[in-house]
Amino acid sequence: MSKPKIVILGAGYGGLITSKSLEKLLKSGEADVTLINKHDYHYLTTQLHKTGVGTAADRQIALSIPELINSNKTQFLKASVSSVDIKSQVVHLEGGDTVNYDYLLIALGFEVETFGIPGIKENALEIRSFRSSKAIYHHIIKQFNLYKEDQDPSRLTFVVAGGGFTGIEMLGELADGLPKLCKEHDIPFEKIRIVAIEAAPSVIPFFPKQSIQYTMNVLEKRNIELITGTKILECTPEKVVLENNIEVPTRSLIWSCGVKGNTIVHKWGLPIVKGKIAVDSYLRVKNMNNVFSIGDCSLFLKDEKNALAPTAQVALQQAPLCAKNIVSSIRGESLKAFEYHHKGSVASIGLMAAVGKVGNFRLSGLFGAFMKQVIEARYLFNLGGPSLIIKQHVGVSREPVKVTVKQ
Ligand SMILES: Cc1cc2nc3c(=O)[nH]c(=O)nc-3n(C[C@H](O)[C@H](O)[C@H](O)COP(=O)(O)OP(=O)(O)OC[C@H]3O[C@@H](n4cnc5c(N)ncnc54)[C@H](O)[C@@H]3O)c2cc1C
Repeated sequence: MSKPKIVILGAGYGGLITSKSLEKLLKSGEADVTLINKHDYHYLTTQLHKTGVGTAADRQIALSIPELINSNKTQFLKASVSSVDIKSQVVHLEGGDTVNYDYLLIALGFEVETFGIPGIKENALEIRSFRSSKAIYHHIIKQFNLYKEDQDPSRLTFVVAGGGFTGIEMLGELADGLPKLCKEHDIPFEKIRIVAIEAAPSVIPFFPKQSIQYTMNVLEKRNIELITGTKILECTPEKVVLENNIEVPTRSLIWSCGVKGNTIVHKWGLPIVKGKIAVDSYLRVKNMNNVFSIGDCSLFLKDEKNALAPTAQVALQQAPLCAKNIVSSIRGESLKAFEYHHKGSVASIGLMAAVGKVGNFRLSGLFGAFMKQVIEARYLFNLGGPSLIIKQHVGVSREPVKVTVKQ
């Protein structure tokens, strides 16, 4: 009898950790595992803001997938998935190749939500993938060079839309990284403007008052201009138009106002709820026994009405159980229901400050920043043990990563 074929789509947090867990769980020769991803690197999405400002080496954020997996147990395929034929159990790849499966995991992540605001899709910069974040970095340098030619101050104005965790992290990184970039490119740093725009009355509105106040203080101390309680109406190549007749001349709007599930999955005949793949308590796509989905492209209801938020923490908790349930399905054993345990959230504001909550403890300042580093290091440890942490911090290659695939 031929071995069952497990195919994993996406090597983000969800897909990669599932494949690593399968390497441990499957007995030798029990199944073939194929991991398919657009790029041959796995990027640390939670640190993409660093790539955007160039405060981390490429290889600290984009890790070679072949080096992370055991090639004797997992076959890696660098390819873009174009569609899946659920009835005939075939994955179609861009370029025409196909891959058959018996068990499928869809972990294709997120897309940026623009809410239909005019000009955002065309003109705003996105912190979405390693490639799109690298594009922010190149855009900054381009604006510096053009400023030298035309002295237009809008070229030195950097606007971040969205005062949630991602926006705060981007703002902190800009405040940390721009002084060095200015020095390197001979730009007067005192002419730089960093502007934060948030539609809610404050940044991180879902956090306790003290955390909000702390964050606002840090941002103000770092000369970041805060515009809160104001919606963005339009973005053109030269300006951002806000409510109350406010206009901010800028060539650089960094959009971090929300995400939605990867829309590529919408035409595959899967049950789509709120733009995501609806899954049951075992992480299987609703009414399917051999198709699973986890992470940002899936919708897992934590109670009758509310879905789990799209976070790395959710994807990372789902992945090991998803691997177990795939193995149980192959062995004809009973599956286990997924239970999410929220461990807390921490956002960095540059290297030396952070804000968040772990358990019942409110975190801020240097200790918060330290905890953020611990969380990131813990992920690397789970991925590749202490050697990966050491390699990432000491022996990392400074060569830029080649980005070829559009995303
Ligand atoms: C800047 C930023 C900061 C964040 N910070 C935090 C944080 O501090 N804590 C937290 O919990 N969460 C954070 N998040 C959210 C977190 O990153 C996501 O929830 C997480 O990445 C979801 O994991 P995933 O496996 O579902 O998808 P992803 O990690 O997005 O992985 C999807 C993978 O699929 C691949 N892919 C997509 N389409 C195709 C295709 N057609 N063919 C082949 N491959 C494809 C992609 O290249 C990618 O490798 C942050 C997000 C951002 C953007």
